[in-house]
Amino acid sequence: MDTVRAATDIVSAAASRLCLDMRFLTRAVLSLRTSVVQGEGMPRCDGRTVVFHSDTVVSSFRRDQNSVTRDLAHCVLHCILGHDSPSNPPETDLAEDMVVEYVLDCLDTPHTSVPGRDDRMFACERQFAKAGAPSPDLLSQIVRGTSPWQLESHRKMFVRDDHTARTDADDAMWIELSQQVMAEVEGFVRDDEGRTGALMSILRIRNRRRYDYRSFLRKFMTSRTVVRESRTEFDPIYYTYGLSVYGNMPLIDSLEQSDSGRLEEFVIAIDTSGSTMRGPVVRFLEEAFDVLRQTHIDRGANLHVIQCDDMVRSDDVVTCEGDLRRLVNGFELSGGGGTDFRPVFDYVDRMVDEGEFRNLKGLMYFTDGFGTYPTRRPRYDTAFVFCDDRYRDHEVPPWAMRIVVRTEDLMAGHNQDGTAGA
Ligand SMILES: [Zn+2]
Repeated sequence: MDTVRAATDIVSAAASRLCLDMRFLTRAVLSLRTSVVQGEGMPRCDGRTVVFHSDTVVSSFRRDQNSVTRDLAHCVLHCILGHDSPSNPPETDLAEDMVVEYVLDCLDTPHTSVPGRDDRMFACERQFAKAGAPSPDLLSQIVRGTSPWQLESHRKMFVRDDHTARTDADDAMWIELSQQVMAEVEGFVRDDEGRTGALMSILRIRNRRRYDYRSFLRKFMTSRTVVRESRTEFDPIYYTYGLSVYGNMPLIDSLEQSDSGRLEEFVIAIDTSGSTMRGPVVRFLEEAFDVLRQTHIDRGANLHVIQCDDMVRSDDVVTCEGDLRRLVNGFELSGGGGTDFRPVFDYVDRMVDEGEFRNLKGLMYFTDGFGTYPTRRPRYDTAFVFCDDRYRDHEVPPWAMRIVVRTEDLMAGHNQDGTAGA
């Protein structure tokens, strides 16, 4: 009984120290209850409560005063990063532990640092480099390929908690908390010699994955009016775009009819230099056409599909399902060739000048890579849609919107719709 009381004190002191070390985690830490049960074992967390074992807490605290704070930080970060599956394959469990421990080693705060930091960081950086990004889904593929002894030695280094008690019941709360942590680290944490860099890049990956590109398509393809900020339908991409293009006027979508009553036109430019993109490109076109059809039933709309690598190769007008089928069946991505975004804009601008486009609403550029952007802002809304499974950072000019989708997200819709075999 005394051990439980002692352990409870240690755990509550650990929570205070953690908040002191990482102020940006305070709300997250306070959102989790802690409790102590008798006996031995690793802590476990179900997304609401972290359960510690009294004997283990007391003995590990005696060995190293930071160890309990570290355990708690480990559990909190799992929640923040959306690691909530109770039934991971072992390599995914280990990958999640590596990501979390790497963040903590990078932060290296007074009450969470524990011995072995250099070894852990070395192991992580080697595996992250192979995986391409510090994300559990990529990393677990690498971990799966390592030898059993290495797996075991990594487990000793990185495992601090028991993942089997997890539930994903509070997903929404943790998504919100994750965005709050991200905003706080980005906005308020003073320069810390890059210590929060790892946390930020991992949070960006976490929060990006949640973005629904179909809702983006819907917003992009409905006629828009500039209105006050909507609190119920907050959309970060449109919000920042509105701010940069229209000063203090964030944009939201509106289903109101456009006043012109004219046929609306959209351009989807496809970067054909990406040789492996055929499936995603076709899927994206189908999805965009679907949205166009649903949102422009009475007005009608033309979709121009422009294929381009370092020069414009073709421009096809799609007005019906048949056009789309013909286009995608004959679709060939050439591969090779540099990526230059400017020829499409030059071409479209010329078409606008010549009156070929009379009511161009927007241009979406679908690409899997990096290219040269025009220097001037076009007269129509522009979005770059990056198909990137490696979570690379894509900078776009301030006048363009940016959305990053993964092949997996694009193809997922394919099966749900029943348009392709599972
Ligand atoms: Zn863990």
